[in-house]
Amino acid sequence: MAKPLLEFTDCGIYCETGRFYIDPWKPVDDAVITHAHADHAYWGHKSYLAHHLSKEVLYYRLGDINLQTIEYGETVTKNGVEICLFPAGHVIGSAQVRVSYKGEVWVVSGDYKTEDDGISTPFEPVRCHHFISECTFGMPVYQWKPQAEIFTDINNWWRNNKEQGIATVIAGYSLGKAQRILQHLDLSIGPVFTHGVIENTNEALRRNGVTLNPTTRITYETPKEEIRKGIILAPPSAIGTPWIRKFAPFSFGYCSGWMALRGAKRRRAADRGFVLSDHADWDGLVSAIDATGCEKVYLTHGYTASFARYLNEIGFDAREVHTLFGDDEDINAQDVDLKDTVTSEESTLSFGEGRGEAEEASL
Ligand SMILES: [Zn+2]
Ligand SMILES: [Zn+2]
Repeated sequence: MAKPLLEFTDCGIYCETGRFYIDPWKPVDDAVITHAHADHAYWGHKSYLAHHLSKEVLYYRLGDINLQTIEYGETVTKNGVEICLFPAGHVIGSAQVRVSYKGEVWVVSGDYKTEDDGISTPFEPVRCHHFISECTFGMPVYQWKPQAEIFTDINNWWRNNKEQGIATVIAGYSLGKAQRILQHLDLSIGPVFTHGVIENTNEALRRNGVTLNPTTRITYETPKEEIRKGIILAPPSAIGTPWIRKFAPFSFGYCSGWMALRGAKRRRAADRGFVLSDHADWDGLVSAIDATGCEKVYLTHGYTASFARYLNEIGFDAREVHTLFGDDEDINAQDVDLKDTVTSEESTLSFGEGRGEAEEASL
């Protein structure tokens, strides 16, 4: 039997015929990158291929890499194997990778979401024989509300905090969630202040030609009274650190798909949990997989075992595969260069000292 076009190796998803990897986690010669999150875009490859809108963020995160960028729908051929990128709707610049050779078509989803978030090019289903899918939220309990409802809640919460004279801190990871929140804030309420990690990512995206709402980087000189009128965009890992405590009193909101779980808000010491995810919910996953028309599904991360069982029950040939792709929605997920603004000692301080615990306990 002929070897499959893509295989799962210790270094990552590999195409032997084309001699390239997709999102490899060990250094390789030729890497195709779905998006710039740390568990997909590792340092140390000899060459990188990614979407044009990932360019500046990849340079910012990985330094001076040998990078070729292309647009969605553009085809690159490596040793006779065609590679084409399609929008994944996960974060700005995120792509699904379509790999085809002699009529056999594979698609690697990377991370994706099916809802149009207003900033990322919307997800596009791609017909294929083999679909390699994530399933971070592959359980029926995960059903997202339309984002307009979530942003109404966020803006109301901010307005209310401002009226009470307390600062508002909202957390989301620096690439994707932060910009999605930024673009949907009601700027008539006040200005938007950013943690350095988020502002660095914003700047990289702006260099890439992305238009974002105005933001002000917080420095030692930024007056606290000004900050209190606005909203602070911070990465999850800044929460519970002295950096954030100097803005007290504040209300802390956390945006993640995990906020759909009972107790999640308390465990993250958040005053408010907003169920906002850059991954597909249950219906999104099932409909996306169905729309590919694929015969075989490979599940890379998330609820792989139970989701594979479900897909097999409804007639797909699905199985789990081992990868190192992680959970970018968790509060402990890796974000970049926090060392710039938060020392490692500070960032290990425990959570739970904010108002969150007290308020939740009194419910
Ligand atoms: Zn991601
Ligand atoms: Zn990921």
